[in-house]
Amino acid sequence: MITSQRQNLADRPWLDAAARPQIVLEGIGKNYGDFKAVGGVDLSIHKGEMFALVGASGCGKTTLLRMLAGFVTPTTGRITIDGVDMTDVPPYERPVNMMFQSYALFPHMSVADNVGYGIKRDGLDRATRTRRIDEALEMVQLGGLGQRKPHQLSGGQRQRVALARALIKRPKVLLLDEPLSALDKKLRESTQFELMDLQAEVGITFIVVTHDQDEAMALSSRIAVMDRGSVVQVGTPAEVYEFPKTRFVADFFGTANLIEGTVAAADGRQLTVTAPELGCNLLAEDCGKHRPGDAVWMAVRPEKIRLGKTADETLGRNHLKGVVWELGYLGNRSVYQVKTSSGKIVTAFAQNERRTLDWRIDWSDEVYLSWDAQASVLLES
Ligand code: ATP
Repeated sequence: MITSQRQNLADRPWLDAAARPQIVLEGIGKNYGDFKAVGGVDLSIHKGEMFALVGASGCGKTTLLRMLAGFVTPTTGRITIDGVDMTDVPPYERPVNMMFQSYALFPHMSVADNVGYGIKRDGLDRATRTRRIDEALEMVQLGGLGQRKPHQLSGGQRQRVALARALIKRPKVLLLDEPLSALDKKLRESTQFELMDLQAEVGITFIVVTHDQDEAMALSSRIAVMDRGSVVQVGTPAEVYEFPKTRFVADFFGTANLIEGTVAAADGRQLTVTAPELGCNLLAEDCGKHRPGDAVWMAVRPEKIRLGKTADETLGRNHLKGVVWELGYLGNRSVYQVKTSSGKIVTAFAQNERRTLDWRIDWSDEVYLSWDAQASVLLES
């Protein structure tokens, strides 16, 4: 038991009150004139994490990454890495390296020279440099391709050259700005796994900026969700998805039905919420945070909703009735938009378990929706 708790804390150092974070951001902000690009961000990141900064375009992700790298000077706050204040440390002396979105490879140089560029001025002898370049190329599975030029490589291979170039300096922290955005969907998915394997192998901290929520979920140990310059939630992918704190987070990750209501009763076990837009009461778990009369927002994930042609009579669940308004076939699942009797559209997913061309539930069918009280997530705002 103790071993498994230790193991758990080793895998999740942020849960260990005694663990010292490697990177600490305290009140970090950046203003451009009157415009606040990043405002008062506090974050703690532990050694060996694959930490993602996620948010819509323009929310300040890249600015935050560039402040870590030292390319942008914060207007407020401070950053420490391994206890050292980075305020007066120039980019080239920081224990971090950055891999840029465009990869920024020199087209006229060979792959090996591109990879070795960062250590050329470190005063290493030629044999040591060659060995380090070969090691870095092996690490990203490009051994033997050192003499090619970047244009003789595929997009995925170019991405790996950029990674090798960033890793050869042996930084403590690697900053990656949209590392997979130049790759097509299939390659992006396989490269995600390569990136995770590589990170586990080298054991250094990766901080990844992405606007792609699926990528962040697949890659990271933890995610910081940003909205208009602020971090609005930090958590593991499962925490952020299953327990979003705000409407923004619930909506940003996957699909969520958002329902406005007022708490009518709280019995310590279940909350009853009046939802005028659905014309009924809904049930949620009572976590002790709400009192009757509180205005609340509820999020319900479409895959948590059971859709059927017959009513589910189970007590303690939420029940709605409606008509199939829209239906989308996505191969592995179907998306149903159901218009309830009050007129609100509720989205539900159904897994396509059987191979058939006859959809069981079709347009205009009358359907019953139901979900567990535990699947109703009450949001903070
Ligand atoms: P994207 O996903 O589109 O790259 P982002 O979340 O990385 O977006 P940032 O590049 O950090 O966003 O920019 C945050 C905000 O700061 C944007 O509104 C941007 O226009 C603004 N901004 C960034 N750099 C500057 C600058 N040098 N001068 C003025 N405004 C800037």
